[in-house]
Amino acid sequence: VAKNAGRNCCRFFSQDMQDKAIARISITNDLHDAIDGQLKLYFQPIIDMVTGEIVKAEALLRWSHPTRGLIQPDKFIHLAEEAGLIGRIGDWVFTQAAAAALRLGNVLGMPFQVSINKSPLELSSPDSLPELDWLAFLERLGLDTSSIVIEITEGLLLQATPTVNERISLLRRAGIQFALDDFGTGYSSMSYLTNYNVDFLKIDQSFVNCGRDNTAGKAIAETMIILAHKLGLKVVAEGVELAEQHDWLRAAGCDFSQGFLYAYPLELDAFEDLLRQRRLRTLAAVVQPKSIG
Ligand code: C2E
Ligand code: MG
Ligand code: MG
Ligand code: MG
Repeated sequence: VAKNAGRNCCRFFSQDMQDKAIARISITNDLHDAIDGQLKLYFQPIIDMVTGEIVKAEALLRWSHPTRGLIQPDKFIHLAEEAGLIGRIGDWVFTQAAAAALRLGNVLGMPFQVSINKSPLELSSPDSLPELDWLAFLERLGLDTSSIVIEITEGLLLQATPTVNERISLLRRAGIQFALDDFGTGYSSMSYLTNYNVDFLKIDQSFVNCGRDNTAGKAIAETMIILAHKLGLKVVAEGVELAEQHDWLRAAGCDFSQGFLYAYPLELDAFEDLLRQRRLRTLAAVVQPKSIG
């Protein structure tokens, strides 16, 4: 009885909060084990809007948890950051993405860009410069630095410190490219475009994919494309799900496009199969008229 009363008296958290806290701690504990063997990198095709060909991919992280199943990055990246594990995860993502870029480039017989995501904390953490290790890794691998694109969000630029700026310019000088992700969802987006040199602007899916009668989203996306082109940036549209979204983005001059309309994020083997199939189809289309004629 005393035990029961005590438990009731001293409850600072609601049961729900307590359950959540316990789940969180257990997930964070599991995360330590996950780094070896349970992380998976998926690759979503990015299409050239003029040719319709797959020309790049975005690497997207998943955690294949032994009991909880496949966990999406939104659910564990922040835990990894809190647990101080994001540096190791980021290194793993980088090396996997670079190896994939090399492999897919070999399939196509031309350079293939793979982009990775970096959360604000990853580039602002006080770790000794991991960038130098990344560059050394690319050199050992024999992969050109321009095959890697780093996607950053406005959140990073909001808390940009001299360290962050130095890191970004170090990588840019070495030839790594940068994309501004989820563009238009943060604060004062325009000033970042003048203060930071990025190569790509990614239009957030909320402007692309908000229903059929998407007049405002369309107007904003079209204006972003004009603005980006005036500043010399290429534009990638995110979250393209419908053919009509593809059509108006293409008509508006959008350079690249990504979304469930073309493909879901795929495991590397499946991605490679898809590339090979498409390549064969293109070859067949070129060869056929000749062999007939
Ligand atoms: P993001 O970089 O903006 O990635 C795009 C997200 O949109 C991905 O979600 C992708 O699966 C999803 N998506 C793609 N096409 C469509 C579509 O047509 N419709 C809809 N509704 N969604 C689409 P995902 O994979 O769950 O990733 C969520 C976020 O997690 C990413 O947003 C990125 O910010 C972050 N993230 C992913 N991988 C990593 C990583 O390796 N490191 C870090 N730090 N963050 C990562
Ligand atoms: Mg998601
Ligand atoms: Mg991204
Ligand atoms: Mg995005």
